[in-house]
Amino acid sequence: MDNNFVEWLKGKKVTVVGGGISGVSAARALAKLGAVVLLTEQGFIPTEVKEELEKRKVQLEEGGHTEKSLEADLIVVSPGVPPNSFVFQKAREIGIKIIGELELGYRLTSGKYIAVTGTNGKSTVVKLIEHILLPYGAVATGNIGRPLSTFALQGGLFVIEASSFQLYTIETFRPNIAVITNISEDHMDWHSDFEDYCRAKLNITLNQTSEDYLILNMDEDGCMTKAAEETKARVKFVSLKSEDADAFPDSDGWLVIVDEKGRPIRLINRNELLIHGQHNVMNALFASLAAYHAGADVEVIRRGLRTFRGLPHRLEFVDEIHGVKFYNDSKGTNPHSVKWALKSFDKPVILIMGGEDKGVDFSPLVSDIWKKVKFLVVLGKARNKLVKTFSNVTEVIEASDIEDAVLKAYRKAEPGDIIVLSPGCASFDMFRNYKERGEAFVNAVAALKSQECA
Ligand code: ADP
Repeated sequence: MDNNFVEWLKGKKVTVVGGGISGVSAARALAKLGAVVLLTEQGFIPTEVKEELEKRKVQLEEGGHTEKSLEADLIVVSPGVPPNSFVFQKAREIGIKIIGELELGYRLTSGKYIAVTGTNGKSTVVKLIEHILLPYGAVATGNIGRPLSTFALQGGLFVIEASSFQLYTIETFRPNIAVITNISEDHMDWHSDFEDYCRAKLNITLNQTSEDYLILNMDEDGCMTKAAEETKARVKFVSLKSEDADAFPDSDGWLVIVDEKGRPIRLINRNELLIHGQHNVMNALFASLAAYHAGADVEVIRRGLRTFRGLPHRLEFVDEIHGVKFYNDSKGTNPHSVKWALKSFDKPVILIMGGEDKGVDFSPLVSDIWKKVKFLVVLGKARNKLVKTFSNVTEVIEASDIEDAVLKAYRKAEPGDIIVLSPGCASFDMFRNYKERGEAFVNAVAALKSQECA
């Protein structure tokens, strides 16, 4: 905890930008600590939240940010407020200090911090670390679970899902253990370029020292190499391919971690994991290594690995209709995760893709689609781009919505086939979030089943 900062906050004018979960949490914490808080939101704040915040004397501004929001000693931004937005630019011009909600939460709490970032696998790794470390009182926070600032003035063992948005606006944030799962192109609508995206991810290790650990993916280069070169922390590597790493699956399928003296420790066999696919072996290795360096007992790690059921909407088995199996991977919101979803099956699948286009290039998927997709069903705003990219690679069928996609995929399927929703796109064109999209898929499968099996 940064006691000077807590003291400084009293009576200071603080503007919180963004009225979502983390913005509201930040506003509450700041008001409790005696700051004069203005919460500014571009859209609208739900009435119940407004009433609660007004009781706490938080001033509110809706439907856009005014000049008043810039009359502040400090600005706290929610993740999701892009660096090219009005408030960011203006605040920089005037010279007002800007921090993100993660930095705020970090300054207001104390304890041990394990932070996970990466393009894919963050939530799974965070929830798995939390699950393994439950006996030690771990709580998942950040993008998943409660924002860190809700723990203001408390101590804890925090397992933080840190998006690049949050890492963009840190200053002193220093996790004891940092994990970067993988880095590939995503959110290009938010970052100016890949270099910028990589730089934001690398911020996770910015303040680490030789007492801390940085856990990286040995199977990737580029941004990972940069991280290993630049960090002051002790670097540990995870690999699916090399037994020179500090965590790897051995040739008999055992998940192995290497202890501080360089001795291998067999944890469990990969067949014992309840989460599927190569990428989840990787996730299990990341979580085991992080838990081990956080001080967990090896037996506790084994128990956690054996009992973790995974998260919904991540390659989740939904149901089977007349021999056709359905999987929901609605959280697969970029091409990289689609690639891994396809790798999880040992035969070609019927793939449903599409949604909001985040400006990414789908062409890196061409060879995977050629090898592993029987036919493709596309929908949403990215539909035309998907048709253009893949119509020479496989048969592409256009659908109007999720229900139509499920129906069209099923009509052409044969017993033994697998239908996977792994959109490779955001959900905001048709849904509030990936959860709603996943639920719509599950409901569409259920409706189809009741028709087919009536
Ligand atoms: P995040 O929180 O980073 O979005 P999740 O754990 O929610 O990651 O998983 C999102 C999707 O990414 C999953 O549906 C899965 O298809 C894919 N995925 C998960 N872990 C990995 C990994 N280690 N490498 C590549 N893709 C992954």
